[in-house]
Order: sequence, then structure tokens, then C-alpha cells
Amino acid sequence: MIADNLHTVEQEIQESCALVSRNPEDVTLVAVTKSVDSSAAEELVRLGVTNLAENRVDKLLEKKENLSQYSDISWHLIGNLQRRKVKSIINHVDYFHALDSLRLAQEIQKRAAHKINCFIEVNISGEESKHGISPEELLSFVYELEDLTNVHIVGLMTMAPFDADDETIRSIFASLKKLQEKICSLKLNYAPCTELSMGMSQDFPLAIIEGATYIRVGTALFKKG
Ligand SMILES: *Cc1c(COP(=O)(O)O)cnc(C)c1O
Repeated sequence: MIADNLHTVEQEIQESCALVSRNPEDVTLVAVTKSVDSSAAEELVRLGVTNLAENRVDKLLEKKENLSQYSDISWHLIGNLQRRKVKSIINHVDYFHALDSLRLAQEIQKRAAHKINCFIEVNISGEESKHGISPEELLSFVYELEDLTNVHIVGLMTMAPFDADDETIRSIFASLKKLQEKICSLKLNYAPCTELSMGMSQDFPLAIIEGATYIRVGTALFKKG
């Protein structure tokens, strides 16, 4: 089941890349395992998936412990992170996808033992319910991170609304890419900002067309039947 799902997702990645002449190797599949147990996650790892994501601190630590024999897994924390939990998790992740405030960045700076790869979460759609920095505030936010030597900005992340049509979703992803290119062009050594974390089970083909380099896929890998 999982093997079939993975095959389907990989095929869709290939097809989406082909549409816009992108190299599939430039798209990293991050498997979101929040809805499944460690054994299902392990099945994916055995099939060759090396990037796993959780949105909760305790679950990430638990799975990392259970899969500790697989030393080549990169661990992604994709959910909103409370400041009081930074200390327990930040040195256990390879990528954090939801940096959304200066106070959180300052806490990461304080607790990190080394540079942490972070994506700034941007709220492009402007939905009240969503976390993230607004596009208007993004640039000044990036400049505020300059002295936080452990906060390394690898890219930007966003989530599209669940109920939007394809055109709206594409324009949200395209806007994120524009912002990413703008920050990248500043050539800040603490914020190379070359990456785009966007696209989930519903919309990853559109995200790839618009330039995603990390897609975060859960349901499509673990659905039954
Ligand atoms: C759950 C989650 C995903 C994966 O969603 P699916 O629809 O199951 O693919 C991606 N990103 C974030 C931030 C999530 O919380």
C-alpha cells in the first residue's frame, strides 16, 4: 500500500517536473508522518525516503528514537513551535519549516548548539487562521535576523488554503517564489534563501510547477485504498 502510494507520488513529481523542464532531483520529497506510527514511517525509509517530517515536538523525538538505526534520515519539524519547547527539540532537527517571529528566532539562537536550517513561514493568503510573517513585513524581518548566528535561513515556506481553486493556489506559490528570489538576490550570508517549501498532498503538483524544492506530503503516502 505505502509502496504503491510512494510510486504514484514519485510519478506525479516526475510528471510535474517534466511540464516545466525541471530536474526531479531538485525536488525533495519530505514525508509527513504525523498521522502514522513509527513502523509505517520505517516502511517508507526502507523504500528509500530519507526526509521525514512531524508537526509536533514529542512525536518527532519519539520517531527519531524509534528509527535511530537509520542514520541517514533528515528530520524536519514543520509545525508551529512554542518557545518553551525550543530547548528540547532544536538540536534534534535538520530543518525547521515554521519560523514566524523574532522572539522564536531569538530563542533558537539561545538554545542551538550549531546553525539551524530554517524556513521562514510566510502567510501569503492573509488568512487569519494561518501562522506566518506577512509579505509586507518579510524583508524587515529578515534583516532583524542578521545577528542571530545560529539561525540560518535556507528558504521560505507557505501553506495554501484548502478550499482555493488551482489558479489561486498557483498565484500564492508564485508569490512565495518572487519573495524568495528577492531575498536570495540580497546575498546575505545568513540567509541564502535558495529553497521553497510548498505543496502538500492536495497541491504539490502545482507547487512543483511554481518552483517548490521541498514538498511536504502526508496523506497521499499513507492513504488506504
Ligand atoms: C500535515 C501537514 C502537511 C501534510 O499534509 P497532507 O495533506 O497530509 O499531505 C504539510 N505541511 C504541514 C505544515 C502540515 O501540518
